[in-house]
Amino acid sequence: MKFSYISHLHCPKCQKRFSAGGKHQLCECGSPLLVNYDLKEIGKVLKPKDLLTRNTDLWRYHELLPVQNKENVVTLGEGMTPLLPMKQIGADMDISNLLMKDEGIIPTGTFKARGAAVGVSMAKELGIQELAMPTNGNAGASWALYAARGGINSTIVMPVDAPKITRNECAIAGADLHLVNGLISDAGKIISQTVKEYALFDVSTLKEPYRIEGKKTMGYEIAEQLGWKVPDVILYPTGGGVGLIGIYKALKELQTLGWIAEDKLPRLVAVQAEGCAPIVKAWKENKMESEFWVDSETIAFGVNVPKALGDFLVLQSLYETNGCAIAIDDETILEEQRKIARMEGTFICPEGASTFSAARRLREENWIKANEVVIALNTGAGLKYPDTSSFETPVMEPGESLTKNVSNNTFREGR
Ligand SMILES: *Cc1c(COP(=O)(O)O)cnc(C)c1O
Ligand SMILES: [Zn+2]
Repeated sequence: MKFSYISHLHCPKCQKRFSAGGKHQLCECGSPLLVNYDLKEIGKVLKPKDLLTRNTDLWRYHELLPVQNKENVVTLGEGMTPLLPMKQIGADMDISNLLMKDEGIIPTGTFKARGAAVGVSMAKELGIQELAMPTNGNAGASWALYAARGGINSTIVMPVDAPKITRNECAIAGADLHLVNGLISDAGKIISQTVKEYALFDVSTLKEPYRIEGKKTMGYEIAEQLGWKVPDVILYPTGGGVGLIGIYKALKELQTLGWIAEDKLPRLVAVQAEGCAPIVKAWKENKMESEFWVDSETIAFGVNVPKALGDFLVLQSLYETNGCAIAIDDETILEEQRKIARMEGTFICPEGASTFSAARRLREENWIKANEVVIALNTGAGLKYPDTSSFETPVMEPGESLTKNVSNNTFREGR
């Protein structure tokens, strides 16, 4: 039995084929590449019940991942995150089966770990010694740490405004870290130049094909956790859209394998921030591609992507599943984030909170029905955003006694 059943790669735009095992970047037509597997063979050698005895990490699906030699797997135990019932907040928005796929407890604190685990493992398999990427923060942090574990050097450029915690994560992992007085697009230009000059491997979002493969495992896990059924709706905070493209790809693969029903896919929802909503705009205009969003700004920095390389794939997944795209403003996101912490005890990231606001809005519009199974994807830990929530806290002198004003109890607010 083989570890991976990868067969080849293909370009979803011009359909050109590429062999497995090369140092692939974009197709010559400019499109990201997708990985194909010999699903017929996998169907013969692997059954859903075989997974039951495997480790609870994303490598349990190794036949459906691109790494061919087990020795090259670089892992920190990522994957099989909880699918939590969200009863209180669900009741609050009149959705009786609201669940949260919680990526807040994954290594490195965000689901970027999935893409980094598979991407870095592949870099190792391909004999790459140094990788390079621009980042808004979270991806750089994950890739720097996984690269360190894989014995690979990394060069990372991020905006000076990127969250300091992600800067520290890169630095402590020993990355060659640089800050740019500009945006992620400026960081991207510096990386493109550096990559050419020093022959580094460019792992910018979707410029290498394996990050999607890591992120698609969220789709496998959701199906497996629901007993090989799919939910009615999945809401996803969309920046580059890698996760959404991945989840859609995963579900199609499971259909081909016959592990989930052929006649039902969840309606996929791309959730963006009002200050950066190119996919929402394109979807509303029924377009197949998005336009660059000028002067983008949002506290949900993980989704601050003005123009995604894979935008056409994201839009395709929305159209083909009768999904939709929706934008939420920052203030609403932060309000939802607090509400979720108070009602459910989970401190999730703003990107994750935006998916709950979107569910609330779509329920109000009756786009989501009260009894549908709805999954909100929380992509990271609130702990990584120490500066987006600030509260007034009383300071006491030693020996002073505490007085409680029950009617003014902040923890009751919103119940
Ligand atoms: C990167 C990121 C996203 C967006 O992910 P894509 O798959 O690129 O759309 C969402 N949330 C967080 C916390 C992120 O770091
Ligand atoms: Zn092509």
